[in-house]
This record gives sequence, structure tokens and C-alpha cells, in this order.
Amino acid sequence: MADSEREAPSACKRLKQDTIFEKFKTDFKDLGRLKSAYKSLCFDRRNPLIAQEIISCNAATGYGISFSRASCETRPYTQEIYPFGSIFTDGIELLNDFFTKTDYVPDNMTFRLLLAKLIHFLMDEKSHAAIRKIQRTDVSETELMIILAEHFFSRLSLSNTYSMDHFAKYKGNLLCKCGSCKPESLAANFDDTSIGNRDCWHGSLDILLGSTESFIHVASVEEELSPGEIAPFEVKLKNVEERRFRSQTLAQVIAFSFLQKASHPSLENFLIPCMAATKKELKIYFYDCKYDILLESRGIPLLVEIPGSNSQPLNFEAIIAAWLVLNYKYLCSGPFDSLLKAPKANFFKHAEPCLEIYEKELLYQHVGEQTTILDYGFLDITKPKFVWPSNLSCKPVDSENEY
Ligand SMILES: [Zn+2]
Repeated sequence: MADSEREAPSACKRLKQDTIFEKFKTDFKDLGRLKSAYKSLCFDRRNPLIAQEIISCNAATGYGISFSRASCETRPYTQEIYPFGSIFTDGIELLNDFFTKTDYVPDNMTFRLLLAKLIHFLMDEKSHAAIRKIQRTDVSETELMIILAEHFFSRLSLSNTYSMDHFAKYKGNLLCKCGSCKPESLAANFDDTSIGNRDCWHGSLDILLGSTESFIHVASVEEELSPGEIAPFEVKLKNVEERRFRSQTLAQVIAFSFLQKASHPSLENFLIPCMAATKKELKIYFYDCKYDILLESRGIPLLVEIPGSNSQPLNFEAIIAAWLVLNYKYLCSGPFDSLLKAPKANFFKHAEPCLEIYEKELLYQHVGEQTTILDYGFLDITKPKFVWPSNLSCKPVDSENEY
């Protein structure tokens, strides 16, 4: 953020008296592990971002494909590997100052609030305990969404508000595993989170921060038969690497990047991230719809083992990564020179017949509701599908008026 946007000194001076920075200095006892996690996440080649090439996808079939049926296969450009911190130079500068300057408090009000959010969460033992708690118990998809939205992502995002997919409201208990959150306040956080266009990729996002600031795709629960048994069912959580889950996440981040570019053309860059989350780990994808760049991180565990200790604290790498990603509008510096010169993801080529829809006709909310309902197994009211004649442009239907 430019220096010119700094707030008036009097306001900054007043805010410097806030206790959070002082409290961190006196109460936080794990600074060594925090600094080490920061260096490891942002600069270590074991935490790379790897550029991807799309080798096949169903982004432009001529009829709508919901995210749950999306297919997107990629392969890595093995020469195009970058440190995680390379696209977050603004965030790195802020963290460097924080770790190296004595009593550092940013003058810039936005950066100050961002840093306060991070510090507050680092010391938020109640939320840490809630995230640890779900490791030891079975959780439904809805319960996982609630605990991650309420006790992790919304605590680190500058946007205090969040929405969860309203279809998930009917798929599980509206109880937070922390044991304290009120069901009625949780219920108010479910809403229509659909994006896309009925004639291409579309569907609902699991967790949406702020007013379409960023989103998270949460791993759903699959029920599988135990070997040799008809019942009971064994509940098994998907892995972030699981092929179908990965395809869905890629389709979502690509559609979201186009939507962000159309909705917020003044953004400094369009390298838009999303997080795929299970109760065990995070994985982060970025897509830039201006330069056709697709990046993928490694899986980052939510907890870490401490040698010689039975405790499993939260992984500071996951906390810093989530903080950088959720606040990418302020902390992500976008693609740099060598990334711009790297081979492309080739989404433009694969989506060519419908690229104009992705660029100009994506919607937020009220998107493809019938298909979405079908995917959730409630109603069979899909309309017949048809194939676009190849010599016609892909003109979308007006989904808001159609229903
Ligand atoms: Zn709670």
C-alpha cells in the first residue's frame, strides 16, 4: 500500500496504545518457532509454488458443468518452481519489519490492522483448541466448515464477515465443535455463495470471506463401506490431493479469478488465490486470468509434532500462509518478471469456445440453482442439455430471469 494512504498521525499514535502489540511482546512465548516457520514457508524451496499446465478440462463443453462435476487435469512445469513468498513481497516486507525492528508498529493503518489480526490469532488459544479438537473426532462437512470459518479463516481475514454455502445448512448439525458458539448466530452465516455461469463452470463455494474477498473449498466427507461389510459405514475424509476434489478446487479458483477481474477491475493484480482445506491440511492454488498463470502450493499441515512433546500445536506455517492468502488484496504483489515469462496454464486454449462467458458473463449468486440442487440430490429438475453448434458463440441464458 502506498505511503500516501497512511492515516493521520494522531490516529496512528492512538492505536499504538492498543494492547495487542504489547501483549504479544510480554505473553507470546514461541517467537523462535514463529520466525522459523516464516522463513521456512516463505523462502525454503521445500515450500514451493509450482506452475501448472492444464492438459484437459471440461470448462467449455457447450453446456453447464457444476463444480462438483468439474474436471481439470494438470501437470507441473518442473522448471517453474518459486518460493511461496515470491508473490507476497508486500506481506514479506511487513513481516520482516515486525521480526527485525524493536517495538515495530506499522504507521499504515491497513497494515497495522492486518498485523494485529495475525498477532491476535497467534495468541487465540481458544480457537487453537477448537481446531485441535476436530482432529480427534469425526466431523461432518458442515461441522468442518463451521469450525474453520468461525475459528480460523475469519479470525485472520481483514473482513470480519463470512458466508457458508446455504445448501450445507441442511447437511449436518449447526453446532460448533468448540462448544461455545450459538447455533442461531452460526445459522445466520449461511447464504447463497454461488458463482459462475450456467453455461460453463458454476456452483457454490463452501466459505466466502467478506463480500467475495476470498474463498475456501472444504473437503467433503465420503462414506465408504468397510471392507467385507454392508454396515456400518466408515466415514473417510478426502485428501486435498484427491483427484476430484482437486479438479473442483481448480475450477473454482479459475472462475473466481475471472469474476474478481470483472467485479474489481481496479485491483493491482489478478493472481487470485483459494485454499483447499481438510481438517488436517491446507493447499493453496492461484490463478491469474489476465496472464493465464496457474500455481499450486504443497499441502501444509494444520498441526505440527514437537519432538519430545505430546502436544500438537498449530503449525505457524499454516497460520502465516492463510493470513497472507486471505488478505491477498493487501499482501500479494502479483506475478513477477520470470513468472510472467514462464509457460502458460493454457486455460485460454482449453476454454476458447466459452472464454467470453468467463470474461464477461460470470455472476455472483443466483447461479444455476437447478443444477446445484440436483447435485445435492434433493430434486431432479435439470433441464435437457444440448450441444452448442461450433459456429455459434456461447451466449449465456439469463439465469436470474429464467427461474
Ligand atoms: Zn465455535
